[in-house]
Amino acid sequence: MQSYGIHWFRRDLRVQGNPALTANLEKNDGRVVGIFVFDKVFLARPDFSVNRFQFFLKTLEALRNDLRARGSDLLVLDVGPEAAYPALFKRLGKQAGLPSLVTWNRDYEPFARQRDTAMEKWFDAQGVATHTERDHLTIEPHEIYKGDDPAKPDSTYQVFTPFSRRWLEVFATGGVQERVEFQKKGFKAKYDFSLTWKALDEDDGDLLGNYVAQNGKRATVPIPEAGTAAAFARMKKFAAVIDNYGEGRDIPAIDGTSQFSIYFKNGSLSVAQVIAGLGLTAYSKVDKSGRAKFFSELIWREFYYHVLFHHPRVEKHAFLEKYENLKWKNREDWFQAWKDGLTGFPIVDAGMRQLKQTGWMHNRVRMIVASFLTKDLLIDWRWGERYFMEQLLDGDLAPNNGGWQWAASTGCDPQPYFRVFNPWLQGQKFDPDGTYVKKYVAELQNYRGKDVHQPEDGYRGKYPAPIVEHAEQRDQAIALYKVDV
Ligand code: FAD
Repeated sequence: MQSYGIHWFRRDLRVQGNPALTANLEKNDGRVVGIFVFDKVFLARPDFSVNRFQFFLKTLEALRNDLRARGSDLLVLDVGPEAAYPALFKRLGKQAGLPSLVTWNRDYEPFARQRDTAMEKWFDAQGVATHTERDHLTIEPHEIYKGDDPAKPDSTYQVFTPFSRRWLEVFATGGVQERVEFQKKGFKAKYDFSLTWKALDEDDGDLLGNYVAQNGKRATVPIPEAGTAAAFARMKKFAAVIDNYGEGRDIPAIDGTSQFSIYFKNGSLSVAQVIAGLGLTAYSKVDKSGRAKFFSELIWREFYYHVLFHHPRVEKHAFLEKYENLKWKNREDWFQAWKDGLTGFPIVDAGMRQLKQTGWMHNRVRMIVASFLTKDLLIDWRWGERYFMEQLLDGDLAPNNGGWQWAASTGCDPQPYFRVFNPWLQGQKFDPDGTYVKKYVAELQNYRGKDVHQPEDGYRGKYPAPIVEHAEQRDQAIALYKVDV
């Protein structure tokens, strides 16, 4: 049997501009098949989201269709890699023979790093070569450090602005520019494959189709179009409004942001691909354009991965250790009111209802509801983080944890603890005519303009009165953070 390769898809669910897949394709002259393995145990995780899982399954389906259209295929197995590969290799050993190469793109979450190190050793023990590439981040954590020695303990960045400055310096170097050029070529490349799982005598019995059908029955929000074609269509749409991003990004009533996050999550789209597709170039600190602002948001994403990579404890603990054991009030009834969008604070309730109805929430409103949970309701940020993971279609450990710890002032380069958003003023500023609130809080339909944000007499109707006194809670929150260190 002629040699062939397997590409192990994980958070890179696309063919176009996929670095490790391309390397495999070149090495094996098109004789490459794809595999995705997931552990069923994952379905029982406490932060499991039926809706995000459905979007993920639809993304896998789109990937499989794309691979099939190009002459390859995707095998999907619902056992973890530690069990899936030994069983598969045993069969392949008796059938077509083992692959000569297994490729994948690197992942940075603590759990994934451990898994990949173990699997690399295992493939090595089987005598099968492996090759990995970068994809999920444009610049990997080990490539950005202060000074000249990354091994020094204080070499990692903990503040966004100097991190982004350094990020842009590294971005300008030849090696990173090549990553962008690679993506540009990827838009036009053909990706001809010439091997299927059938030819290797393997068949997963359409496990994926069965999962899509079964899980789809439980989905509670409309599932957006998935896959690279949908992500590229989104990129085209956003290209038309990117110049207005500076103002548009803070107005939740309009479609002023890219909504790329769900596609980044599974890798239907990568940040480098967006940089290439939208022709983004390094910006200077005086550049106030929409494009510059948008580029800096992409770097925030990379920053939070950088933090998670260097400080994996943030997954469960406060980055600022002095805030690890804050005396949260953690009232279950307030938490429930927050989840249900029944706090009596219109902008907070609109955001929480948008989340439940659509599986997405605007970034400005995410900041408002997170500040409200932690600093008005005095509830542990981990409760909110977990609930977001249960609900968000784009739920992603690094930016979710980073966003929550930013709002709770416990994180790396966070909002100062004494800055407590005033939910009424936030509503008036970012939703001045109440369009956003009225879209999700039907009870307030009859209010005009800014009145919607503080509907004095509305509290007598169906809409609840505020469950807390904002000024009192703010003072309590500030006192809470005054811990002895
Ligand atoms: P755009 O405004 O179009 O931004 C483009 C991209 O830049 C985003 O897709 C995202 O990848 C990145 N980005 C934008 N803002 C941020 C930010 N503040 N932090 C990190 N990256 C950013 N993002 C997630 O992808 N998954 C999450 O689970 C998540 N949870 C969050 C929780 C809280 C409490 C907060 C405050 C923010 C969270 N974010 C999360 C970040 C941000 O809200 C979303 O990335 C953004 O709303 C997605 O919409 P968009 O793609 O239209 O963003």
